[in-house]
Amino acid sequence: MFGKGFPLGTMFGFKVRADWSWIFIAVLIIWFLAAQVFNNSALWDTMPPVWLLWVMAIITMLIFCATVMVHELAHAYFAKKAGIPVKNISMTFVGASAQMIREPDNPIDEFKISISGPLFSAAIGVVFYFSAQLLAEAGLALEICYILRWVGFINLIMAALNLVPAFPLDGGRALRSIIWVATKDFKKASKAASAVGRVLSVGIIICGLIWGFSTQNWLGGFMLAIIGFITYTSATNSTGQYAMQRALSIYTVSQALKMMHQINQNAQLSDVARNMIQGGINTYLVSNDQEEIVAVLEADDVKKLPLAKIQEVKVKDCAKSMRQDLAVYLQTNLLAVVQSMNFNDVTVVPVENEQGQIINVLHMDDIIIYLNSVKHTIEQN
Ligand SMILES: [Zn+2]
Repeated sequence: MFGKGFPLGTMFGFKVRADWSWIFIAVLIIWFLAAQVFNNSALWDTMPPVWLLWVMAIITMLIFCATVMVHELAHAYFAKKAGIPVKNISMTFVGASAQMIREPDNPIDEFKISISGPLFSAAIGVVFYFSAQLLAEAGLALEICYILRWVGFINLIMAALNLVPAFPLDGGRALRSIIWVATKDFKKASKAASAVGRVLSVGIIICGLIWGFSTQNWLGGFMLAIIGFITYTSATNSTGQYAMQRALSIYTVSQALKMMHQINQNAQLSDVARNMIQGGINTYLVSNDQEEIVAVLEADDVKKLPLAKIQEVKVKDCAKSMRQDLAVYLQTNLLAVVQSMNFNDVTVVPVENEQGQIINVLHMDDIIIYLNSVKHTIEQN
């Protein structure tokens, strides 16, 4: 939601990426720890030097991030076990999340995936918090004990907050899976969980504002209110998302496919550009001299070129090659196509026949147009 961010690497086979907004919040937390939490004379017999408070704050932040990662890896592990591809684990302004490509298709998987994260946070919280107490009594350096204690404390808060049954927080997903088991009806469960989610989200926003104003803890209050706001909008969207997912699984590539115009890759771009723009043609299949489809030419890409450039270049200079390994068949269901597009960050995939020849391409826009055309049928189901 805040742009693309940058990759941090791979952990246990899952890609991890951070959003730029996450850097902002990381710096804010380090400042909060150094200037507020550790800079408290009640904690110390003799106040440590300022540089040491900052070092403590940075180390605390690093350990905290590692524990957040454990929470997300737990979700990702159970998702993968349930056969749901995880696109990546992304850290953003409001925390981290394991980006699953689709919703679980049974309540037991949904329950395991959603509850695993908060359980790990709670376990980490208990272990860190109490070992900090024990180590302090045993005479370990207070600096280390305070770091462990804060990480333990914040993990307990994280577990508690995530268990609030406001969909799509972990607790809300767990609630949905329980109603799903009870009613054997995903649609009902989704609607009920989303309604509870909206009510509780408003509660979270109000709590955040009251907390911020009453304790002057602006950072905490503001964050809580933002989480409430995001939870509210996600709870509202989730019902529609499910209907969409079910519709996608019913229809196949052949239904959404459009007849496309074909053009040789060595043709002058200016010859086709006019047709595209005036004739409202979005996509051309681009073929080589053997009439094999090798790429696609999209109106959006042509429009980006300056007019003088369009006069000069050939079709192949502006065409986009496709990932052959992502080819789909006429019988492939649209849910699998959208999941693959989403997972691989592409908007167009080649369509192959049984002999492995590309016969057409399927664009994300075509899928959306098709779903709109059958919207009436989807809504009745
Ligand atoms: Zn979680």
